[in-house]
Amino acid sequence: MLRLTGRLGSIVVRDTQLWCGGGASLPRAVQRAAKHGLAGLEFGASIPGSVGGAVAMNAGAYQTELKDVLRWAVICTSDGRRRVGPEDLGFGYRRSGLRRNEVVAAAAFDLRRDHPEAILGRLGELRGQRRATQPQGVRTFGSVFANPTGDSSGRLLESVGCKGLVIGGARFSPVHANFIEASPGCRAADVLALMCEGRRRVVEAGGPILEPEVRYLDPVAGIVRPPLGEAVGP
Ligand SMILES: Cc1cc2nc3c(=O)[nH]c(=O)nc-3n(C[C@H](O)[C@H](O)[C@H](O)COP(=O)(O)OP(=O)(O)OC[C@H]3O[C@@H](n4cnc5c(N)ncnc54)[C@H](O)[C@@H]3O)c2cc1C
Repeated sequence: MLRLTGRLGSIVVRDTQLWCGGGASLPRAVQRAAKHGLAGLEFGASIPGSVGGAVAMNAGAYQTELKDVLRWAVICTSDGRRRVGPEDLGFGYRRSGLRRNEVVAAAAFDLRRDHPEAILGRLGELRGQRRATQPQGVRTFGSVFANPTGDSSGRLLESVGCKGLVIGGARFSPVHANFIEASPGCRAADVLALMCEGRRRVVEAGGPILEPEVRYLDPVAGIVRPPLGEAVGP
């Protein structure tokens, strides 16, 4: 495991760009941009995690994704480093083409000038929206399944009665079905079983095969992978 600290965790304003180390906190970068009157990164305010992780996952919310504001990223491997643009990173929905040995050491965002009060106002609205529609004060790992094209995983799971469904210590949130709440003692096996059950119900109701958005750290192989394997045809 690598820890990106020091300069690799810094956040620096350069004219209308924000230069961040890969280890910088994304919500903190959003706050810094707002304070300096730079708009465009507000979607990331409630996305917990680092700038490097956000690039790797092409994190997004409210119809904006990281790739929309990324100017460049510095990628390090054991062979050295290179600066690449968004077109080189193979971005897709909640994914990038980064390989396992590639580390995002830094990233720069292209932002636009706006009044800090206006940006902070938008941030407040977005946070309020999230509080009203997503579980708060409980342990979750964010969206469970990626949204299939033209539909929402939360809507599909809710339509097959998954809201509030419990297996062991894991429960599909009664607030938003595409979140799993973990009660004390919840095991990864409970979460995986619940995901399988949700996916089974949606397919049996004629819906699409839901693809996990979350990644699973395989303790045996020591690698990060999608938890339910690759999709197979009907
Ligand atoms: C409550 C909650 C709400 C969430 N809401 C959203 C949301 O609205 N939108 C959204 O997109 N996500 C959301 N997420 C998911 C998560 O916050 C994002 O995926 C986040 O961007 C991941 O960053 P991380 O630093 O935590 O990376 P990790 O989760 O640690 O890693 C994610 C992946 O990125 C890789 N990675 C991490 N850092 C680097 C690096 N420096 N270089 C190369 N690869 C790296 C890891 O190997 C792994 O494959 C949410 C999560 C939670 C818990």
